[in-house]
Amino acid sequence: MVNSNWNFETKAVHVGSDPCPVSGALVSPIYQTSTYTFKTTKEAGDVFAGELDGFVYGRSSSPTQKELEMKIAALEGGEACRVFASGMAAISATCTALLQSGDHVICDTVLYGGTYGLFQDILPKFDVSASFTEVTDIENLRNALQPNTKFVYIETPANPTMKVIDIAETAKFCKEHGLTLIVDNTFMSPYFQQPLEHGADIVIHSATKFMGGHGDLLAGAVIGSKKFINENLQVSLTKFGGIISPFTCFLLKRGLQTLALRMEKHNQNALEVARFLENHPKIESLAYPGLESFTQHELVKKQSSGYGGLIAFELKGGIETGQKFCDSLKMIHIAVSLGDVGSLIQHPASMTHRGVPVEERRKHGITDGLIRLAVGIENAKDIIADIEQALDQI
Ligand SMILES: *Cc1c(COP(=O)(O)O)cnc(C)c1O
Repeated sequence: MVNSNWNFETKAVHVGSDPCPVSGALVSPIYQTSTYTFKTTKEAGDVFAGELDGFVYGRSSSPTQKELEMKIAALEGGEACRVFASGMAAISATCTALLQSGDHVICDTVLYGGTYGLFQDILPKFDVSASFTEVTDIENLRNALQPNTKFVYIETPANPTMKVIDIAETAKFCKEHGLTLIVDNTFMSPYFQQPLEHGADIVIHSATKFMGGHGDLLAGAVIGSKKFINENLQVSLTKFGGIISPFTCFLLKRGLQTLALRMEKHNQNALEVARFLENHPKIESLAYPGLESFTQHELVKKQSSGYGGLIAFELKGGIETGQKFCDSLKMIHIAVSLGDVGSLIQHPASMTHRGVPVEERRKHGITDGLIRLAVGIENAKDIIADIEQALDQI
C-alpha cells in the first residue's frame, strides 16, 4: 500500500516494504535464486514478451530489487529507479544507455575520482569526448557546447571540495539546448536534496554511502523517467551485467528506513565539528555548506533542506602536517568512502584523487593538504575530542 501523500520518513519506512503475501512475514524474504521457473512455455513466453509480470533470470531483476527500487524512486520523487552493484556500475550503465560513438559530454571539473577516470580515459576509447569545465558559470557551459553534446554531468556538493552548483540554472540551460542533465546526489542523499524537483533529468547515487549508511555494502542507483529506466537503462544493466545481489538489496532497503534519522544526525554533528574547526588557529581554510562563512551558503539553502555530513579543510603547514594529523586520530578511521555511521577521514591528494593530474587537481581546489572528513553519527563531543587531541600533535 503506497500513499502518495506520505512524507519522506514514512515513505522510507513503508514504500516497497509490504509484509510477505505468502507467509505474512513482516519483512519480505530475500529470494536467493539465480533463475525463476514457469509452469508452461506459454507462461514463460508471456513474461519474456512483457505481457505478464514476473521474473526471468537474476541478471535482469529480483523481487527484493524491485521493492528497493520502488522505495528509492519514491524518496527521490522520480518515476522509476534501477539499482546496480555499485555507484560506478550505475554511472557507467547510464553512460552506455545514453551515448554512442561520436558523442560529446560536458562535466564539471570536480568529480568523484572514478567518474573522472571514466570520462577522461574510458569513454574516449569509444570515441566519446568530454569537456571538463566549471559548471558554476553558465558562460562556461555555453563555450563547451558542441553540436554533438548529449548531456551535462555534475555533482553538488562536489567531491571533495564541496563546491556547489545551481541545479535549476544548469537545468534551464540544458532544456534550452536539448541536453540531459545528470546529477550525482550522493553527498546530500534524497533527504536533503531532490535534483529532479529542480529540473534535473537523471539522478545518480553511490548508495554505498549515506543511503546504505552502515559501511557494509556497495550499491548504486539511477532515478529518472519510466521510459529511460525501463527501456534504455535496463538494456545496459542486463547486457553489461552490473546487477546487485538480492542480499545487498535487503541490506540497502533496511538502511534506507533510517535515512532521515541518520542524515539529521550527520548534519547536526558536522555543523558542530565545522564550528569547532572554523576558529581553530591550526586551520588554514574550511568548507562546510552549513556555515554562514561558506561562500555558497545561500545557494545551498535555495536548493537543499540541509547541509550533509562532509567537511573539507586544510591545515596550516601543508601535506606532512595533514598526514600527521590523520595518523594521530584514535577513533576516526582513515578510509575512503563516506556516509557511514562512523566518522571517516581521507586525504584526496594521496588517496581518492591521486589519478587526477597534479596541476589539474590543484587548479580546482584539490590542494595537497586538503582533508575530507565524513562526520558520522557518534556523539559530536567524542568526534571533536578526537580531532582536538590530533590537532595537539601537530
Ligand atoms: C563513492 C562515490 C561514487 C562511486 O560509487 P561506488 O559505490 O563506490 O561505486 C560516485 N560518486 C560519488 C560522489 C561517490 O562518493
